[in-house]
Amino acid sequence: MIEAPPHPFEAERLGTLRSLNLLDTPLQERFERVTRMLSFLLDVPIAHFNLLDANRQHLKSAQGIDAVDVSRTGAFCAQTIHQSTPLIVVDAQRDSRFADNPFVTGGLGIRFYAGCPVRAPDGMPIGTLCAIDTRPRRIGKDRIALMLDLVEMLEAELRVSSLSRAHTQLIEQLGAAERLARIDPLTRLWNRAGILQLLEKEWAEAERHDKPVTVVMADIDHFKSVNDTYGHSAGDTVLVHTGKALLRSSRSEDVVGRLGGEEFLVILTACDPHNVEAAVERLRLGIEQEDFRVGARQLKVTISCGAAATVPHGNTDWRGLVDRADAALYRAKRMGRNRCEIDDDSFEARVIDTKEGAARF
Ligand code: GH3
Ligand code: MG
Ligand code: MG
Repeated sequence: MIEAPPHPFEAERLGTLRSLNLLDTPLQERFERVTRMLSFLLDVPIAHFNLLDANRQHLKSAQGIDAVDVSRTGAFCAQTIHQSTPLIVVDAQRDSRFADNPFVTGGLGIRFYAGCPVRAPDGMPIGTLCAIDTRPRRIGKDRIALMLDLVEMLEAELRVSSLSRAHTQLIEQLGAAERLARIDPLTRLWNRAGILQLLEKEWAEAERHDKPVTVVMADIDHFKSVNDTYGHSAGDTVLVHTGKALLRSSRSEDVVGRLGGEEFLVILTACDPHNVEAAVERLRLGIEQEDFRVGARQLKVTISCGAAATVPHGNTDWRGLVDRADAALYRAKRMGRNRCEIDDDSFEARVIDTKEGAARF
C-alpha cells in the first residue's frame, strides 16, 4: 500500500483548516445538499465531503455512511489532496496503489473512488469531495465535470458564513471538546445544552437589535410505534432523517437542535412574525413529504409543532418562550397531531414588530 506523504505545507494547511471553524460542528444544510446531489448525479451509494485533519478524515457531510471520523492512515483522500485534478480509481482491487488498502480489503470494501480536492479561500486543500461505490465502475468526462461544479459550489460556501452571528460566535468561542459535548452524536445536530445556549445568545442579539425571536418545538407523532414495529435502530434512522429534513426546510441562518428523545427545537432567527405560520408549516410539510428509507423499507412519519414568537425585552426570558412553544405543541398533539399550533401571545410580537417598523420608517 502506498501511504500518502504529508502535504508540503502541512502545518499551514492545518492552520487554514482550523481557522474555518468547521471541524466538530453540527450538520449544515449548505454542505448536505452538495453530497446529496453528488450521490444522486453519480448514482453512488456513498458520497462525502471530508476535512483532512492531522490524524483523521472528518466527514463534514456524508450520504450512505454513518461515520464521523475515519483514520487518515490509508485514506484515499490523503492522496487526493496532492493532486490538482480528480483522483479516479475504477477498481481498487485491481489497482496496485490500493489493492491492499484497508478501506478496500476491510469494512467499507471500496472498489470505485472518485475524489476531488476542495480548497479554502487561500488555496490550501483542506479536504476532498468524493464518491464511492462498492462495485467497480467507469466515469465519463461529463460526470467528472459535474463533480468539479459541485466542488466549486463547496468552495464558494467556504468563502462565506451563512450562519447567524450568534451561531458563528458560539462556534468560535467553544474549543473542540466543548463543541463535541454540545453535539448530539446520533443526529449531528446541537444537543439540548447546545441549542439552549445558542438560544440564549440569539435572544441577547435580538434584544440588542429589537428583533423578534421565534422558537418551534417539533415532536415526532407516535414515534414509539416506529420503534415497536420496526425496531430501535430503524427508529434511530428516522431520527437522523428527521433532523436532516428539518435542516432542509429551514433557512441557513435558522438553527436546529435535538432537545432529547424525538423532540427537536428550531430557532427561527429574525423570522418576520407575520411569516411564522408559513415557516412552521414548511417544517411540518418537509417531514410529511419525506420518504424515510430504512433498509429496504420506506416509512412515513409526521411531526406536530408548537411555535412561539416574541420581541425580547427586559423582563422576558428565553425559557418562557420555550415553555410557550411547548404548551402550543401540547395543544397540537391534543388537536390530532401532524399539525402546527402558534402560541396566542406570539401575535403580540407582530404588533410590537409592526409598531417598531412603523416608528423606524
Ligand atoms: P406522541 O405522538 O404523543 O408524541 O407519541 P410518541 O409515541 O411519539 O411519544 P412517546 O413519548 O410515547 O414515545 C417516545 C418514544 O421515543 C419512546 C422512546 O423509546 C423513543 N425514543 C427516545 N429516544 C430515542 C432514541 O434515541 N432512539 C430511538 N430509536 N427511540 C427513542
Ligand atoms: Mg412523539
Ligand atoms: Mg416526545
